Amino acid sequence: MTKSNILTDTFGRKHNYLRISLTERCNLRCTYCMPADGIQLSPKDHLMTYEEIYTIAKEFVSMGVTKIRLTGGEPLIRKDAALIMEKLSSLPVQLTLTTNGVIVDKFIDHFKKCGIKTLNVSLDSLHLQKNKEITRRSYFEKVYQNIILLVKEGFVVKVNCVLMKGFNDDEVIDFINLSKNLPVHVRFIEFMPFDGNQWNMERLVSLQEILSKVHSNFEKNAIVKLQDAPNDTTKSYQIKGYQGTFAIISSVTNPFCDGCNRIRLTANGQIKNCLFSSKESDLLTTLRAGKSIIPIIQKAVQTKLKVRSGMNTLDKFSQSDIHSNNRSMIAIGG
Ligand code: SF4
Repeated sequence: MTKSNILTDTFGRKHNYLRISLTERCNLRCTYCMPADGIQLSPKDHLMTYEEIYTIAKEFVSMGVTKIRLTGGEPLIRKDAALIMEKLSSLPVQLTLTTNGVIVDKFIDHFKKCGIKTLNVSLDSLHLQKNKEITRRSYFEKVYQNIILLVKEGFVVKVNCVLMKGFNDDEVIDFINLSKNLPVHVRFIEFMPFDGNQWNMERLVSLQEILSKVHSNFEKNAIVKLQDAPNDTTKSYQIKGYQGTFAIISSVTNPFCDGCNRIRLTANGQIKNCLFSSKESDLLTTLRAGKSIIPIIQKAVQTKLKVRSGMNTLDKFSQSDIHSNNRSMIAIGG
């Protein structure tokens, strides 16, 4: 097998998109991500150093990775986050980031220096009190102002909103209307099961439910279906005359695994061949032993299952006990 094929799985999917979690820590406590009692953090010496992140990323790039997303926890609270961005920006990749937006204003110039042009900012409610309730912190205004600042500074801003029934499903139209005069790309994410987030199907707002809200609030000919790229996780739309767009990420009711090109690296140096896989492969120990990490990456890709780590039916997928074997979202980074 040549190096360029190592990231292609048995279903012909080329994994050219690496998501790197920089930290298991966060300055928010979002209920669908961080279990109420927090998580068992990895010991400091089990976490990748910035050199190790760069070395592993460079190896993935040599095998065909062309896009790297930095996630967390909250990636920007890691003390050497700026250095990591700078190091990774020397690689021939599209570098991007998912953040909760609280301290993003401190990195505007650095993002530009590192060639970061697109950012995903999490915002799950446009109401101060509800935002406080879901994040268990009070940074709504700061995040909202930072989204506007990023747009003003010329970044492509995607707003990630996890919808939960009875909590923020009444804000779907408000979020879409956010894209009327602001060129933001709102992405509604179906609530997904991870360890400790009390997930159940009753709390899910499905793709169909979101679309029926859209169709009962906008004229049929005002809703434009946009072209999605083969690897896209989104089903994208635009309301005619609106500056921005909205999209739906339907991992639960309409999985998009056929076009999956994603592989994940956790903050403690494990690779996950699927977001929902509880099986992981340890790269860091091998790297620290001075051995090649390529055989481990190869095996992880070659053993990847077609759909949601084997949970190919909604029945299989909605057995929440399975997901408690997986990590909490905070320790994966989405
Ligand atoms: S569920 Fe797994 S296989 Fe499917 S798109 Fe997500 S990461 Fe890829």
